[in-house]
This record gives sequence, C-alpha cells and structure tokens, in this order.
Amino acid sequence: MGVQQASTVPNVPGSFVFGVDLDGVCADYTLGFREIVAESRGVEPESLPLQRSWGFDEWDLDEDEFNRLHRYAVTERNLLRSLPMFEGCADSLWRLSDAGVWIRIITHRLYTNWGHATAIADTVAWLDEAQVPYRDICFLGAKPEVEADAYIDDAPHNVNALRAADNQVIVFDQPYNQDLPGPRASTWLEVEDLIMEMAASHEAIQPQLPGIDAGADRLLRRKSEASD
Ligand SMILES: [Mg+2]
Repeated sequence: MGVQQASTVPNVPGSFVFGVDLDGVCADYTLGFREIVAESRGVEPESLPLQRSWGFDEWDLDEDEFNRLHRYAVTERNLLRSLPMFEGCADSLWRLSDAGVWIRIITHRLYTNWGHATAIADTVAWLDEAQVPYRDICFLGAKPEVEADAYIDDAPHNVNALRAADNQVIVFDQPYNQDLPGPRASTWLEVEDLIMEMAASHEAIQPQLPGIDAGADRLLRRKSEASD
C-alpha cells in the first residue's frame, strides 16, 4: 500500500483497476456529518433531511458554515474514522478482489489545505476497521483521474470530469446526482455486477491469490492467527 500522487500512479499490467471513491460511495458522509451539524445547532438529526442537494441547501448550510463544521468534524471529532459504511461494500470489494480486480481507493479528502495528517490516518484506520481490501490508495486534491479502468463516484463534478476524459464511471446513487446518466448503482451488489461485466471484457480476471481465504473477516482471522 502506498500514498501516491495522481501523476505518479502507475497502471498495473494485466490487472483491471477499479478506482473506488470513499465518501458517498463506501462511507455514508451525509449520515455521519448530519450528527455533527445537528449537535452544533442543538437540533435533532432527523430535522436535517438525508435527501439533500450537493450544496446542503436543505440544511440551510452555507459554504462558510459547511467549511467550519467539516473542519471541526474532521480534526476535532475524527469523523473520517467513524463514518458508517454502506451495506455490502466490504463483501463486494472482497469478492471483486478475489476475482482478480485491483482495488484502488481514491479519495478527495485533501481538497482543503489543513488536517491532512488526521485525514490520512483516519482514512486508513477506517479502511482497516471496515475490512475493506485495497491494493493501493490515492489521496487527491482536485484531479479526479488516476489511471483506473473503471471508477465509481457520487460527486457530479468528479463523474463529469472523469467521463469527459473518456473513462468508464459508475454513478453511486445519491439524491444529489440524479441528473447524471448511467451506468448507475444504488447497492453494492449492483456495483459488483457492473464491475464484473466490465472486467470480464477486459480479459484480466485472475484466480484468487494463493493462500488467501475468502470473506470480509479474513483480516481479523489473519490478525488472530498472527497473535496465536
Ligand atoms: Mg464522493
């Protein structure tokens, strides 16, 4: 695993590389961030609708308040270590990985110029805790592209930028991306099916690596074996 800049990320010969965004795709940012916003305002979380636009208009959250609360959430509350995971995400990624798909985590969490150490440490801790398999991880600023064969993302600007550069991009269904054309997935099983189809036509599906057991709990099993 390595932390790499987009300009230095290599393509992996023979592998089908799947670029996986985190927030809004693997991690439920809206749900986690809502707790922080509600707490800061002294209101019930349910008063802030989960069906929100990209700019949080339904929460009456302007850019200044968003930036202030996002920073507080990341640096003071370790939000990125505690976000809920979307159902089935880790299991689907394990099955794809077992089928030979190269999982490349791509996150845009460094779009601010503060809190990088916390954002990186908490992201890696979250991935370990959630038992998400990955071969490498890219922390990006503005540029969305890291030479993957297919991507999944929820942010309209990232999907549009990736597609404008002729990339295959699955939209992970969110209320703020309904205007984007497909392919689209609203569950991780749908993501898995779409990627298996794309990878099959790429002729790079490989058998499971020898000596590695199937299942999302393998890290725990391997850890407990190591400590025996
Ligand atoms: Mg995202």
